[in-house]
This record gives sequence, C-alpha cells and structure tokens, in this order.
Amino acid sequence: MIDPSGYTYAHEHLHIDLSGFKGDIDCRLDQYAFICDEMHTLVQRGVRNIVEMTNRYMGRNPQFLLDLMHDTGINVIACTGYYQHAFFPEHVAERSVRQLAQEMIDEIEIGIDDTGLKAGVIAEIGSSKGVITGLEEKVFYAAAVAHNETGRPVSTHTSFSTMGLEQIALLKKYSVDLSQVVIGHCDLKDNLDNILRMIDSGAYVQFDTIGKNNYYPDEKRIQMLSALRERGLLGHVMLSMDVTRRSHLKANGGNGYDYLLTTFVPQLHQAGFSQADVDLMLRDNPARFFR
Ligand SMILES: [Zn+2]
Repeated sequence: MIDPSGYTYAHEHLHIDLSGFKGDIDCRLDQYAFICDEMHTLVQRGVRNIVEMTNRYMGRNPQFLLDLMHDTGINVIACTGYYQHAFFPEHVAERSVRQLAQEMIDEIEIGIDDTGLKAGVIAEIGSSKGVITGLEEKVFYAAAVAHNETGRPVSTHTSFSTMGLEQIALLKKYSVDLSQVVIGHCDLKDNLDNILRMIDSGAYVQFDTIGKNNYYPDEKRIQMLSALRERGLLGHVMLSMDVTRRSHLKANGGNGYDYLLTTFVPQLHQAGFSQADVDLMLRDNPARFFR
C-alpha cells in the first residue's frame, strides 16, 4: 500500500468538492493540470505517498487519483468512510452500523466504484466542534467494525483541535488498537496537554494544517513540535497540509503542496530539528502506520 522509501503527506486532498455545502466554488478542488504539476514537483522533492482523505461524501474521484498516479508516479492511498455530521448524507441515520461498516469493508476489499482502486485507510472520520454528535458516534462505531475486520488504520478529523481525547476513548470502547489510530488536525490551537495524553494512549497525532497561518501560526506549531521532540515523542507524529481549496494551489496564488518541504522543514531545522527528526515524521512513522 505505502512506499516506505520516501516521504508521505499523511492528510491531504487531491480531489474534493465541498462547494455545494459551503456555497463557494473555491471549495471544489479539481484542477487536474495544476495538481499534476504540483505532484511532479513533490516527487522530485522525495515525496512518494499522498494519503487522500476525501471519502465518497466529500467529492472523491477515484479515476482522478488513478490518473495522477499514472501521470506523475505519486502513490495515492485512498480512503473510505464518512466526514462529520454537517456533511453526512441522510442514509447515515437510516442504515445500521453494520451496513455503514460493510460499505467501508467493500471499498477496502473489493474497491471503489469498479475502478480497481482500493481504500487503504478509514477516514476522515470526524466530530464537530466541541461535541461528538449521536450520528458521529454511530460512524465511529462503524469505522471500528471496519477496522477490526480489515486491519486498515483509522484517521480522524477533529474540528479546530477539539474532541481528540474523546475520539480516542470512543475507539477504545469499540476495541480498536490505538496504535492503529491517528487523530487529525491537532495543530489548530495551543494543544500540547491534550497531545501528550493522546500519545500516551498509544495513538498517533497529526500536525496536518501546516501553512494555514491564518488559523494558527506555523511558529506555534513548531513550538509544540519542539516540546514533543524534547520529550522524545516524535515517533508518534505525522505531518501534512490539508490542501482543500483551489486557492491553496500555487497556480492560484496559494502556498502549494511543496510549502511543507520548502518553507516549513527549513524552519524546523532552524529550530534545532535534525534530518533524522524530519525523516521520522515524514517517512518512518507513516510507513509504519499505513503499511
Ligand atoms: Zn479534516
């Protein structure tokens, strides 16, 4: 599934369409030529894998992903699951946990839409800001069933870095081995105490909104990462940018996917991080987790 020889962006989107929900065409990320160019650049910079977190109900496009793999050599790990309450289709309420889980299992074992592309991760399984709603809990249950039957890891979405510990408690309740869980978007607020408890539980954490300085500055992301480094905990951290909008692309004036490597990694080095620290977060941890 994963190519362990290079870097991995652990939480990205290559094709996503939330424009209908958000009433903003910027939220339809689908410009193939621009994204193709950026993937060529990433491959040149040593990135081998993109973990694509767009499930069916977020505007996933499996053929788009297959074309990118073919045309650029990047390896894409596709996902299956449901996002968060506000984005659920109506059938989440109507179907049983078993039915929701079976859809995930089928996309893992059989494939997505007869394209031959199989999902490699259960994601992005989300909760709302400050609450896990009843339907979200149902989806977490289904994700746990799918995980326990397929062994594929679970990657979550937290809203503004809230409810991560509660997500962990829920997955534990449903018998998920926490070393198979990564909590997403841990880097959108001062969050060190919670992150330490998450890592202590055995779960992984993601700093995956790198470059979104209008939400939370990279400088503070680096402060939290430094605190984890001092404690010897970088073995539980993965990095990414969560590109979701047309305006995030370089051709449209955004940071582009390579910002993590061209801007953020040099900032880590300046803050005292070694190359081995960077390789751990970008290569070895994802290779172990998404194996
Ligand atoms: Zn997310």
